Amino acid sequence: MIVIMKIGSPEPEISRVSEELESWGLTPEKIVGKHKVVIGLVGDTVDLDPLQIQEVSPWIEQVLRVEKQFKRVSREYRHGEASDIVVQTPNGPVHFGEHQPLVIVAGPCSVENEEMITETARRVKAAGAQFLRGGAYKPRTSPYAFQGHGESALGLLAAAREATGLGIITELMDAADLEPLADVADVIQIGARNMQNFSLLKKVGAQDKPILLKRGMSATIEEWLMAAEYILAAGNSNVILCERGIRTFDNKYARNTLDLSAIPVLRSLTHLPIMIDPSHGTGKAEYVPSMAMASIAAGTDSLMIEVHPNPAKALSDGPQSLTPDRFDSLVKELSVVGKAMNRWLLEHAMAAV
Ligand code: PEP
Ligand code: MN
Repeated sequence: MIVIMKIGSPEPEISRVSEELESWGLTPEKIVGKHKVVIGLVGDTVDLDPLQIQEVSPWIEQVLRVEKQFKRVSREYRHGEASDIVVQTPNGPVHFGEHQPLVIVAGPCSVENEEMITETARRVKAAGAQFLRGGAYKPRTSPYAFQGHGESALGLLAAAREATGLGIITELMDAADLEPLADVADVIQIGARNMQNFSLLKKVGAQDKPILLKRGMSATIEEWLMAAEYILAAGNSNVILCERGIRTFDNKYARNTLDLSAIPVLRSLTHLPIMIDPSHGTGKAEYVPSMAMASIAAGTDSLMIEVHPNPAKALSDGPQSLTPDRFDSLVKELSVVGKAMNRWLLEHAMAAV
């Protein structure tokens, strides 16, 4: 349920309403929007009569029931307002959200060595990216494939952050690595394979770093949103949803089926920001540019693109990685759509000249 307070409601009155509802055994959560304050109520609200809540204060404008299974992530929970997730990076704050400029995340699949990660970081920054991505811990189908360099790779990411000022996005697979990883990451990635690792979701929900939640490869939109709900329910409302392609009957030519229809669907269902990963979505570097372009046109809030200085020699996901030169020209191509959609940052525009 949500309780919408009237514009100009006095702070003490909002607190009084929250305290009153708490004494009824509910868990009120104050959400400050651009225009109004909304009090979200999660708990046993089935038998509650909205009129009964309405009587608590003359400052209550409306009481609405959230019918969906997912509550906190639902668009209604914020009374239709999109979330603006602010991530502090050394280069300054970066905003993810429906009304924000497009955010570009780029970098290799795995952190391989110091030279390749700092070189890639420099190149993607020069091209216009705000975040460097790169895995220290890699979820691989085969136990014999390269698993990532682990903690030492976190050190290399920290060095690349220091050298370029880019924010860092890297994947957490095991809760035991949370602390050292959160020291380096500005955003913690939960990968497709762990989307429904509920104990991991609870752990990252109980800490402060923003979370990038990738869609499970066979997850429905509802399962994905319920996974995000775990993180919000544990206390962390800074979640970005990343579509990275799903399994369908056809994987002969593209690795996955990139579900771009997820963009308008998510937009209608949730207030959380959206990211598209056309690299894992298609699995082939040659298909990445057109899907990146389409993602912006469809309204994505951010893009994640794999870039490697020498894709032929990459330890993981080489075939889908762009060279730094190709990424640089891609950002220039993207600027056309980005500007048309009014989602292009000045810095991107400058990098794209
Ligand atoms: C990745 O980002 O390199 C990755 C492993 O992604 P996903 O979880 O989407 O497969
Ligand atoms: Mn990868």
